[in-house]
Amino acid sequence: MKRQRPALLAILAAAALGLGAPAARAQPLDQMSVLATDLKPQPYPPFTAVKLSDDLWQIPGSGSNSNVMVLVTDEGLILVDVKYDYQYDDLIKVIREKVSTKPIKFVIDTHYHADHSGANVRFLKDGVQVISSIPGREDILAKKQPGAPVGMAPANVTFTGEMRLYLGGKEVRIRHYGPGHTNSDVVVYFPQDRVICVGDLAHIGDLERGGQYPLIDYIAGGSIGGWIERLNSILADYKFDRVMSGHGTLGTPADIVAYRDILERVRTDVRAFLADGTKTQADLRTHLNKGPLHWPDPGFAMVRGLHGLYADLKP
Ligand SMILES: [Zn+2]
Repeated sequence: MKRQRPALLAILAAAALGLGAPAARAQPLDQMSVLATDLKPQPYPPFTAVKLSDDLWQIPGSGSNSNVMVLVTDEGLILVDVKYDYQYDDLIKVIREKVSTKPIKFVIDTHYHADHSGANVRFLKDGVQVISSIPGREDILAKKQPGAPVGMAPANVTFTGEMRLYLGGKEVRIRHYGPGHTNSDVVVYFPQDRVICVGDLAHIGDLERGGQYPLIDYIAGGSIGGWIERLNSILADYKFDRVMSGHGTLGTPADIVAYRDILERVRTDVRAFLADGTKTQADLRTHLNKGPLHWPDPGFAMVRGLHGLYADLKP
């Protein structure tokens, strides 16, 4: 078994990283467009609502727009992520028709990228309290994401460490650990349901597509080492049965372990490649693109992550 394990991991990672999967190369912008320079509105299928428990609903993402979680309480709703600004009307429609007509009280941004926080501006106009980490607000104000829609609005409530919301007898725990996918990632935990939302700190399911590439947004303070630590902290700190990543399908703690292992593999591979101290950033780019990791090039992952990854992992 021990001899087989690396092979299995390699297959998993290869699938996740797009090895031998031409479709992943052909469609990288589908789920990566949040980080692409062109964030113009794109067509998308009608939204649906999936009931997870008595009080939790998922509005699944499609294409590049994010998954949304809705907590229903007697006193109102709490949303985790809100997709793009231009999808606000359809998001509200599906919530009103399928989930609840109660007022939306809080929106939580898992991080600053526009596919998760783009509709903040509309919810703020409705008088909803929008919550993010402090970097989640600052990154939007600093326009850290090229091509993000003009007029993006940051959260009006920010926090450090952990914040807990209590609404209608329900508790929601929001935590900002530190740098990972970006510097702003928060996780949102629903203890009554043993469900956790991790934003883009993982990508679960749909591994043949582009979105599972570890887009380390070094330009906005992301870090591969931090990202691995974040996932280890999530596994250690929370009792959960189901997890919603920013895109893709619902998963279990095993999916967080698998994604952490993919990141470990990236770090190990890049460290080994840079170990002799002779490689340039261009060499790393070629290696990531043509070597075993098969990172897309050109790709926004490279633009956002290459320089930082090189500086971070070179000896
Ligand atoms: Zn993101």
